[in-house]
Amino acid sequence: MSTSTSATIASTAEVPKVNLLGLTRAQMEQFFLDQGEKKFRAQQVLKWIHHAGVIDIEQMSNLGKALREKLQRVAEVRPPEIVSQHDSADGTRKWAVRVDGGGLVETVLIPDRERATLCVSSQVGCSLDCSFCSTGKQGFQRDLSAAEIIGQVWLAIKSYDAFQSGKGRIVTNVVMMGMGEPLMNFDNVVSAMNLMMEDLAYGISKRRVTLSTSGVVPALDRLAEVSEASLAVSLHAPNDALRNELVPINRKYPIARLLESCRNYIDAQSDNKRVVTVEYTLIAGVNDQLEHARELAELLRDFPCKINLIPFNPFSQSDYRRPSGNAVSRFWQVLVDAGYIVTVRTTRGDDIDAACGQLVGQVVDRTRRSERYRNAAENQATKAG
Ligand code: SF4
Repeated sequence: MSTSTSATIASTAEVPKVNLLGLTRAQMEQFFLDQGEKKFRAQQVLKWIHHAGVIDIEQMSNLGKALREKLQRVAEVRPPEIVSQHDSADGTRKWAVRVDGGGLVETVLIPDRERATLCVSSQVGCSLDCSFCSTGKQGFQRDLSAAEIIGQVWLAIKSYDAFQSGKGRIVTNVVMMGMGEPLMNFDNVVSAMNLMMEDLAYGISKRRVTLSTSGVVPALDRLAEVSEASLAVSLHAPNDALRNELVPINRKYPIARLLESCRNYIDAQSDNKRVVTVEYTLIAGVNDQLEHARELAELLRDFPCKINLIPFNPFSQSDYRRPSGNAVSRFWQVLVDAGYIVTVRTTRGDDIDAACGQLVGQVVDRTRRSERYRNAAENQATKAG
């Protein structure tokens, strides 16, 4: 093919439209400046999308006809698509959400008295392969865009028909704790979280937007420069030997380095009363013994934290078991006696597979990783036999 033909093809190729849904305030202002428009248009469009829930540019009535036509040529507001919705008897609502390219992620809203916490996904699948996690068994497909992340908040509010409806806040808290490791998708997660906290968008307090990480330390070291969100860390073990098994990224960034990075993050925040939420999934016979509780109490001495114990939720590709209520109570008591604030996560949405660790739900195991796991386990059993 000649060079001139290639150039002709390139020049006639359609330029993809900018999805305004995922633009932060600064990015939206820059977008309008690039279009030769005034910066204040960004405020108008942000309010239409995130306050009024309007995605049809034609309905943005304070923009003027010429600007609306221009915008429709170069931009769009396109949330991801809800594939299915399941309501639990306890009020939990779960959505399977289709993103560009056909991948599916899950989003869960968990109401609790005056709060409603939305658990948001950041990736399709996950590459980190924590041994107790159903998402990790799917393998990794791709990062979500900022529009696909904030789009989950938009969809949740839309599904209750609650944009400017006077029904009160549908989403009061957000946890980046769904499918994926948020710090592996740094820029898009930071943009989406900043929109969650932005007054022209959802205006959720920085204490109510929480990023949960399994310990991608270099990214966590950079986070304080661009985010004021609250921090949770998935610890799950009181020592490196055990954590290496449960959370493989620990082999690269061990516990001491992780806790140091967490401490630096909260020290860098402007308010000095922040604590880190330490997530600890209790797995029967693995990390739920009294010696583990004592070791955890010792490990976290002087570390500004509260502890959230999460009894493991069994799922089909895992042999791990849920601990008994007594085992959970005994573990909890050791930590309380050592002076910690400790909560135990109650299982919600059991009847719709919405409890944490079950987010895989109906999502297809595209890499057939679970099958490979079973085959490998069977091979090992055969060799051992
Ligand atoms: S626990 Fe989080 S980081 Fe680990 S595999 Fe699951 S989604 Fe990934």
